[in-house]
Amino acid sequence: MDKLAVLKQYFGHDAFRPGQETLVDAALSGRDVLGIMPTGGGKSLCYQVPAMLLPGVTLVISPLISLMKDQVAALRSAGVPAAFLNSSQDLEEARQVWGAVRRDRVRLLYVAPERLENARFLELMASREIRMVAVDEAHCISQWGQDFRPSYLKIADFVASLPRRPVVAAFTATATARVQEDIALRLDLRDPVRVVTGFDRPNLFFDVRRPGRRKAAALLSLLAERRDRSGIVYCATRSAVERVCEELEAQGFSVTRYHAGLSEEERRENQDDFQFDRKQIMVATNAFGMGIDKSNVSFVIHYNMPKNLESYYQEAGRAGRDGEAADCILLYGPGDVATARVLLSRGDEGPDPQGMERLEAMVDYCKTDECLRGRILSYFGQPHPDRCGSCGNCQGLFSAADITVPAQMILSCVKRVRDKLGYYVGASLIVQVLRGSGSRRVRALGLDELSTYGLMREVPREQLAAYLDCLEAKGYLCTEAEHSTLRPGPGAGGVLFRGERVSMTSRVERQTAPPVRKQRDVPVATDEGLLSALKAERTRLARQEGVPPYIIFSNAALADMAAKEPRTMEEFLEVSGVGRVKAQRYGETFLAVVAAWAASAE
Ligand code: ADP
Ligand code: ZN
Repeated sequence: MDKLAVLKQYFGHDAFRPGQETLVDAALSGRDVLGIMPTGGGKSLCYQVPAMLLPGVTLVISPLISLMKDQVAALRSAGVPAAFLNSSQDLEEARQVWGAVRRDRVRLLYVAPERLENARFLELMASREIRMVAVDEAHCISQWGQDFRPSYLKIADFVASLPRRPVVAAFTATATARVQEDIALRLDLRDPVRVVTGFDRPNLFFDVRRPGRRKAAALLSLLAERRDRSGIVYCATRSAVERVCEELEAQGFSVTRYHAGLSEEERRENQDDFQFDRKQIMVATNAFGMGIDKSNVSFVIHYNMPKNLESYYQEAGRAGRDGEAADCILLYGPGDVATARVLLSRGDEGPDPQGMERLEAMVDYCKTDECLRGRILSYFGQPHPDRCGSCGNCQGLFSAADITVPAQMILSCVKRVRDKLGYYVGASLIVQVLRGSGSRRVRALGLDELSTYGLMREVPREQLAAYLDCLEAKGYLCTEAEHSTLRPGPGAGGVLFRGERVSMTSRVERQTAPPVRKQRDVPVATDEGLLSALKAERTRLARQEGVPPYIIFSNAALADMAAKEPRTMEEFLEVSGVGRVKAQRYGETFLAVVAAWAASAE
């Protein structure tokens, strides 16, 4: 069998994606490889295809115990002899895997890096023919990366200890050059064939919304527009997760939650509910995600700003892994910067100057009116056009207004209140003074005697809130994290005393329908009725077999099936994502669904 036959027979694909073939060829010819591809780019095939063609067993090192089981289940259901060894298994299961490995019945063996510290395992490996060691999430070897795992450092010694040096193949979605160098160095890669594919994810739509102090309402309306879809809402803190989750539940959304404060059992349960499509929305901190491989996540909404663009792109990138159009929306509020600063200064390694720099780039992303995709790509050193045409900023129209006068009023009010009281107060009290609300608290403090009292009586509350947000976003005001008091920022003096102008850009949503988004590999589904019938069948089978639905077929495969309407087994094999074993296993069932649909449509 050759590589294309393996690709078709086991994985159901007709062609390699850019980069995949180069890496497969390199591994087959005995060269080390380093594959840098974005999430969803198709890294796994780069070692799975060679594993089927090389003699002996390919060892796959992956940090994600929770993923292994699903990955192996997916491979087995495609007819690939794969297995895993990890601490979640009972003794009997582990014994069976050991036996199968001894009898050369396993082509792909998944283990966590910690396994390389187990002497008996090392003995077993030394007795087998290991032609390839594939290192998934290889950035875990680097202290410069996000998810350093000390046990990854053992991999090079392990490889060196084998009787014959296997091909070492490393894969990651992390783009920074420093991490790439670190991977090559610490894994001791020998003159690796390196492929860096574009980091762009054309099927993802990026947007930043600035709802000011009305984030919760903004979130609700975003979710209401996506009622039947599955997605993740990321929050910065556990308490925010609890609050948001409760609110969504009260509004009747199908929602669950995940953060490090929950028991392991509850985390597992909630993750499964989401993974198995029993719950549509996952509200989580950044603790959630490394362990999931759900391909039909159709939106990722950030309720708070993450601390850098690496984290943002990684988290947002969990949307649309099936290649279908998906949305990545960040709800930015000025308070987010303060929260991120606090989280950074509390980091395990203490305050981190690099972290502050990276935070700046993240804040820029939230404030820019340039192309959002372009911002991300240039951050990762990738080429990109000026305007992508498919992000919120490229599709929005902007209008700029001169707000120097209201800015002066607000800043002087903040200053005068402070002069009168001897301390700074929060935004709500400032708003009350400016609007001349005459509340008991304002009067009790004597603030109704100030010359700025009632100065902005005519300005609607919403407008005033937008001014405050803008001034904060531009650094003329800042919110002190601990007491959330509003103080003048570094730029305030220029506006108050040196006549500097302030302008506010606001985005006007375009009235016309947005252009059709680019999709990858996904034919336009011709008939929604057939597609939902196919999905229902997939759900039924998934329940029956106790696996997540995408293990049976991906959304992309079902969409292609709906478009091709196969009537025979041969036609069924033409569907993208359908290999020989899956056709044998599920062909008749799905063909029956197509036939029944066709009969009812006639
Ligand atoms: P990664 O590990 O890089 O995040 P995966 O290996 O999980 O990505 O692949 C992502 C998706 O792309 C999977 O659904 C897979 O079936 C699909 N895919 C990978 N290679 C191809 C290909 N050559 N043709 C069509 N689909 C592919
Ligand atoms: Zn753009």
